[in-house]
Formats: sequence, structure tokens, C-alpha cells
Amino acid sequence: MSDRKPTIGGNWKMNLHTGDAKALAVGLAEAVKTDAVDVTVFPAFPYLAMVAGVFCDAGSQIKVGAQDFYHQANGAYTGEVSLSMLKDVGVATVLVGHSERRHVIGETDVLINEKVLAALEAGFEVVLAIGEKLEQREAGQTDFINYAQMCYGLAGVSAEQMSKVTIAYEPVWAIGTGKTASPEDAQAAHAAIRGCLSGIYPGTDVYATTRIQYGGSMKPANAGELLAQPDIDGGLIGGASLKVEDFNGIITAAQ
Ligand code: PEP
Repeated sequence: MSDRKPTIGGNWKMNLHTGDAKALAVGLAEAVKTDAVDVTVFPAFPYLAMVAGVFCDAGSQIKVGAQDFYHQANGAYTGEVSLSMLKDVGVATVLVGHSERRHVIGETDVLINEKVLAALEAGFEVVLAIGEKLEQREAGQTDFINYAQMCYGLAGVSAEQMSKVTIAYEPVWAIGTGKTASPEDAQAAHAAIRGCLSGIYPGTDVYATTRIQYGGSMKPANAGELLAQPDIDGGLIGGASLKVEDFNGIITAAQ
């Protein structure tokens, strides 16, 4: 058991509207009472302020994060949302590099790195998502892909700034597919990621203090075994974060 505090994130993706987002937030505020786990939910942009307000009114410890943002301060970036806008509505955490942004929307490593640097500069907590595709796993490239995505994503990030960074290891083939990495495979990838961190930040304790979440079809039934692994410090949850019972079941397994 490490002394890293478990961290559980709920990525609501492009799901839920006012009524069901509010009901989920209210239900979570009632159900999640633990201080032993850091819990963050990532609603879609239009509902961030409302969900943050629900948690604030309920005195809940649950934090609200954004699934994306643009790294420029302001200006002619039609359709984009800035970090100061997010701060304005109570957001303190941002997700960067999710596989759907990398592989569906087409975000590059360069853009991901710009976002990481801008968010840290603005004082946000950053969850940097990395992970291999199925063909890369089958070609034996899992650890290399994770290393490369971390090197690009963290370029220019100091060891001190790493106290605000969580790595989310999310094998792309496990996201939303119902296929979960076995606890042994997930542990092996997490241990290798920790090894990369000691290479990227030599002579520091970054490798030991950085929290690494697992993401990919985590649910209450498999969370216990995954979270029991020594290098798995939490989970980033998609589908199972949309129901109070499922998400709280995973939070309970993390305690
Ligand atoms: C995710 O979106 O980060 C994710 C892990 O999704 P799911 O839990 O649905 O696989």
C-alpha cells in the first residue's frame, strides 16, 4: 500500500443534459462522503457551473474538472474555452490528452504539451491521459508509447510542477469497450510508467509521488482488483461514472 492518496475521476464525456446532470451531481453529493479519496467529475462545458454549484451548496468535497480547454488566454479562437473562463466557473482541474481527443479529434503531442504547460502555469491540476492502441500493444510497443506520450506531454514541466500532475494510463482498446486490462497487465504498465518518470525526473521523488490512474472499462466488479495493485492509484472512469451507484462503488473500492 503506497501513501499516495487514491484519486478517482468521472469523465461524463458528451453525455447528460441539465436534468440528468443535476440529478447525478445531487446523488453523488449525497452518496460520496469520504475524505480518503480525491474525487473529480468532468461534465460537458455547458454544465460545469451548475455541477460546481451543486457540490458547493451541498458542502461536497467532489471537485469539478473540464474535459478540454484551449491554451491561449483569449481572442479569436471560435468555439474554444479558456482556462480563465474555467476558473471563473469553479473548475480547478483539467483533463489533457484523452484518447478521444488524440485519436477522434486529432490533437497532436505538440498541442497536448501546450495545454499541459498553460494549465500548470495557470495553477490548474492536470490529468494527462496516455495509452496505447490495440495494434501497438500487439506489436509489443505499450511501454514505448506510454514513454513517448509522457515525454512529449511533460516537456518543459518541472519536477515541482509535477505535484499538480496525475497520469491516467488508459489503453485505448479498453476504453468504452467492456474489455479491461488484467490487473497484472495494468500493474506492469503502471510500474513501467513510474520507471519512465524516474528517467524523466532523475534524482527526484517524482516517480514515487505522482499518482497514476487506470482507465478503461473500470466498474465496481473489477475496481477492487485493479486498485489493489501497488502502482495503481485510482481510476479514470467513463461509462460507470454516469450512475451514482456504480461510481460510488468504485470510490468505495478505492478506500
Ligand atoms: C474514459 O473515458 O476515460 C474511460 C476510461 O471510459 P470507460 O470507463 O467507459 O472505458
